[in-house]
Amino acid sequence: MTDHQKVDRDAAAMVNDQGGFPEQEQQPPGLTDDMTPVPDHGETSWVGHDRLQGLRALITGGDSGIGRAVAIAYAREGCDVAINYLPDEQADAEETQRWVEEAGRKCVLVPADLTDEDAARGMVHDAVGQLGGLDILVNNAGFQWARREEGLASVRTDEMDRVFKTNLYALLWVTQEAMPHLQRGASIINVSSIQAYDPSVSLIDYASTKAAINNITVNLAAELGPKGVRVNAVAPGPIWTPLQPATKGADSMPGFGGDTPLGRAGQPAELAGAFVFLASPREASYVSSTVVGVTGGRPVF
Ligand code: NAD
Ligand code: MG
Repeated sequence: MTDHQKVDRDAAAMVNDQGGFPEQEQQPPGLTDDMTPVPDHGETSWVGHDRLQGLRALITGGDSGIGRAVAIAYAREGCDVAINYLPDEQADAEETQRWVEEAGRKCVLVPADLTDEDAARGMVHDAVGQLGGLDILVNNAGFQWARREEGLASVRTDEMDRVFKTNLYALLWVTQEAMPHLQRGASIINVSSIQAYDPSVSLIDYASTKAAINNITVNLAAELGPKGVRVNAVAPGPIWTPLQPATKGADSMPGFGGDTPLGRAGQPAELAGAFVFLASPREASYVSSTVVGVTGGRPVF
């Protein structure tokens, strides 16, 4: 562990213990190194056990936050990885790539704005081509606007377009394009949210996309089950990622995550176990159509 990483981890632990973060704000999509403290993606903690040996995964939004933690864990479990992200996030993507390659696995970079249908479909084509196939699709890219003036009256059409296209249209385009490549034993993991169960007034459009993602997960599991392909979702609670300072007011950071039973926000590293389990053809061989909550104690049923 470098001194820099040790300081970051200590700072993250300290902030977690106090249940809050310093006030800070970024423009979307947000970058990891501009966060205080920098999140913990499992860089110094995840130990692989060959659970995904020889598999190939495409992770949308794999540059940062939860997606980076999943990429690092998958690589250490023996999986090659392709990550999709917005072109503005190149620095974050290269850092994720560095960790995947350090684990001895291939990391393919496929930047594309997923709100553009042709770009989204072309991205899957490129990723599958460079990986030589596809065993795991993680639909993790997501976007929200947390509005200061709460309520439906403040929701603008251009904001709704970005939220619905990123979270729903893109998920369906990417999955459509990936499906023909998924063989028996493959799986899809969608990223839902605690917002699907307990929606915030300030996130009305975003929360509805996460409820729809749960519904799509059940539907796709029914469609793909007969082909031996499993489909599940992970529903995170409040997690310390660039999405938060990039889409919420600075003054909401100190209390972020403090309202969970565990009394703190989660770190991206704390999500990786759920994604490794659901992707594992051996450990999760009979698990499909379910949602795993990683919420610090808030219910997802
Ligand atoms: P993050 O900002 O690190 O990751 C989100 C990623 O989505 C970005 O890195 C970006 O690459 C990608 N993205 C957004 N718009 C895109 C577009 N138009 N084209 C391509 N990529 C795009 O934040 P995160 O919190 O790790 O988010 C990952 C997932 O977790 C999202 O689906 C989010 O809704 C979900 N989630 C997060 C939290 C939380 O508290 N952080 C809680 C519940 C659910
Ligand atoms: Mg990012």
